[in-house]
Amino acid sequence: MEPEAVEDYRFVGARRRLIELIRAQGIEDLEILQLFDRVPRHLFVPEGVAHRAYEDSAVPIGFGQTASQPSLQAYYIKLLQPSPDDRILEIGTGSGYLTALLALMGDRVYSVERIRELSVRARRTLDRMGYKNVALMVGDGSIGWRRFAPYQIITVAAASPQVPSALVDQLDEGGRMLIPVGRRQVQDLLLVRRVNGRIEEQSVRDGCTFVPLLGRYGWNEGGETAT
Ligand code: SAM
Repeated sequence: MEPEAVEDYRFVGARRRLIELIRAQGIEDLEILQLFDRVPRHLFVPEGVAHRAYEDSAVPIGFGQTASQPSLQAYYIKLLQPSPDDRILEIGTGSGYLTALLALMGDRVYSVERIRELSVRARRTLDRMGYKNVALMVGDGSIGWRRFAPYQIITVAAASPQVPSALVDQLDEGGRMLIPVGRRQVQDLLLVRRVNGRIEEQSVRDGCTFVPLLGRYGWNEGGETAT
């Protein structure tokens, strides 16, 4: 079933302008641009910041976390190229907005978030909009979600000191993963692919700053040292 479009005409113009901004950054693929029209971002962020939902910026969603910048999410989608048969693992559900975009492209999205309140809120929004192909779990996504592996796509929205081996193990042949890796303050966005059984890594963007991936294969709770 097509997820329900929940329209609020106050935001139509702002959403169109956001899509133009995304296009201006080199995302020309019509299917990707249409996703940003189909998913109302203002429903995924807290009401108090709904007026900022169509800025091309990270927006605070509580608990010290942010919904990522939309043009960055468009870039993720462009690089990952989800297709209708793909099983997708997302680490860092956050607001659930990228979850919704991915669910429109892939077969099923499995998304892990360590902060229960965020996961519950994302579930509520996704249910309200009628998404049936999304499974959410509260836990440490740095160890992945082994039960449904292997995944054709893995997307990580938080920065790690290294590529978690558990996530590599759960990547299917031909699969691709995007993950920011580096120091606490600045990271490279890595595209990791399994090609003929071998793992290939390529830096696709440097100078990124993501919130830390906290967990067994990420940073410890203080965020200063790798666990
Ligand atoms: N795509 C999300 C959005 O647009 O709302 C971005 C969310 S934010 C940039 C990154 C998220 O990763 C945060 O919600 C944070 O709690 C979560 N996170 C950090 N470490 C995690 C871990 N080990 N497992 C699961 N989620 C984690």
